[in-house]
Amino acid sequence: MRPPRKPSQAWVYVIWGFNGLALLGILIVGVLYTTSLQAAAAEGPRETAQPGPTRTPPPTSYFLPTLTPNPFYTPPVFESPTPFVMPTGLRPTVIGFSLAGRPIELYTFGAGEKEYLIVAGIHGGYEGNTIALANELITYIDQNPGVVPTDVTLYIIRNMNPDGEARDNGVDGRVNNNGVDLNRNFPSDNWTDDWDRDGCWIYRPTTGGRYGGSEPETRSVMSFIRSRRIDAIISYHSAALGIFPGGVPWEEPSKRLAKALAKATGYPYPPVDTGCEYTGTLADWAVENEVGAAVDMELSDHRNTDFKENLKALKVFLNFQP
Ligand SMILES: [Zn+2]
Repeated sequence: MRPPRKPSQAWVYVIWGFNGLALLGILIVGVLYTTSLQAAAAEGPRETAQPGPTRTPPPTSYFLPTLTPNPFYTPPVFESPTPFVMPTGLRPTVIGFSLAGRPIELYTFGAGEKEYLIVAGIHGGYEGNTIALANELITYIDQNPGVVPTDVTLYIIRNMNPDGEARDNGVDGRVNNNGVDLNRNFPSDNWTDDWDRDGCWIYRPTTGGRYGGSEPETRSVMSFIRSRRIDAIISYHSAALGIFPGGVPWEEPSKRLAKALAKATGYPYPPVDTGCEYTGTLADWAVENEVGAAVDMELSDHRNTDFKENLKALKVFLNFQP
């Protein structure tokens, strides 16, 4: 008797049949996929090599605007970083830089609690004799340190406008490299960019700056003054108009300082009134910002330093109580 055939055997064939079909399907899909990749790879470069649509660049975007040369530009001269070192080894500290990158140098004498500041060269080469005077004073005090009382610290900024000094020794050397009058750029209450020129300096165009304190030279001096407790300031100018106290109207301590300095030097006080209104000055800003007293003091001409007179003035200044 033939043993009964297992019924499951037929199902095995059916299942293997399906498996075979599935494998065949996977194989076909795989082959098709590979072929299509090859085709895409073959087509790729051809596509990019085809010229694209023409693109016109905007006509002006690749050209720089025409620059008007700055008439006040003074190219920086890379001098020795310590051009004015005393035989004793005294060196300046740098409180900031001009527009052209020249250092604004500060000399310090003594270490007392009362602090006095002399600023020269705010009007650059046009008043270059104030810088020459500062150099003479620095040299003298370095050799005679006893001139500074023990309770005093004296600071001297020998040249606040080094770009103006580098540009010219005449009227062209007055302003900074932006054409700004630095003694009209301090953010005092009366700062203005422009002013009535009647009775004022008119030899070249100049402004008070874009805003009070817009110039790096001004800001360097402002931040130095703010970092200290300055009792009194002399800002040196030339020429001949006398001594102008700080403040609008002039403040009492500044008037007392002006009178005392006038007595020592013979410079006019009250100063010559030319009808000019002075705005944004260092002296006005200083007394509005906690400096005890401040004056603009003019040498007698544009050449001499009046050293003897200003040595007397120095002694009066360093003993002045605001
Ligand atoms: Zn001046």
